Formats: sequence, structure tokens, C-alpha cells
Amino acid sequence: MAKATVKLICATCGQSFEISKICYNRTDANNWEAYMSDRDDCTCSECYKKAKQAEREAEKQKFVEDVYSKLPLPQIEGVSEKQVKYAEDLRIKFVHTYEQNEGERLIKSIYTGRFLSDEKRAEIAQLIKTETSARKIIDALKDIV
Ligand SMILES: [Zn+2]
Repeated sequence: MAKATVKLICATCGQSFEISKICYNRTDANNWEAYMSDRDDCTCSECYKKAKQAEREAEKQKFVEDVYSKLPLPQIEGVSEKQVKYAEDLRIKFVHTYEQNEGERLIKSIYTGRFLSDEKRAEIAQLIKTETSARKIIDALKDIV
């Protein structure tokens, strides 16, 4: 075993950072170091995390827009912007769960311990199509999504 370490400059923020890898032998380690040194597209862990986070948020935003373009969900009314936002997030989460395939949904149900009968699911689907009260939406969804 040989440890390869290389100092790189982050392509995003310009900070220098180090990365290491355990290789099978010294030759492999040297090859990896040489290969990494030639790259100019590496980002530090901080920038990588930020980029991933931005990616996830963009995906979520796209999903939300997609939902609203396909489902004419009513405008939610609540006592505060925060409450409305919470109700909206729960509503989107519910749609997201039921947009997943059967297998993913099952895994999530086992993981969270939250199982919904078909009747209950239909009832909630009906509710989110018509309900405008943030409080009622939160009450219906907070323990199941
Ligand atoms: Zn960086």
C-alpha cells in the first residue's frame, strides 16, 4: 500500500487544498498523483459541498415548478408566510412521495414507519387539490410525509 497525496488549487475559489488516496503500490500512487496534478477542474470539499447543495436545490425547484404546472393546486392561506411555506413544503413532499415508484415508496415507508392505506392516500390527494387552509394542510400532512 502507498499513500498518494497531491496539492491542488480549487477551480472555484482558488484556495489550495490537499487530497489523498491509498493506492495499491508506489507506482500506482505516483501515477495517480501525476494524473491529479494535471487536472485543473478540481474543487475543494467546501466548494464541492456548495455545488451539490445548489444542485439539489435546483432539482427541488424544478420539481416544484413541474408539480404546479401539472397540478392546479390552490393558493394556500395562513396566518404567516412561514406557515404557508411549511404547508406548501408538506404538500410538495406528499406529491413527491407518491410520484416515486412502488419500490422506493415501500423502502421509505419501512424506513420512516409511515404507511398509508389506499383510502387514506386518496383522501389526502383529494384534500391537497382543494384545501386552502395552511393549518388544515399541516395537520393532515405533518405526520405522514
Ligand atoms: Zn473551493
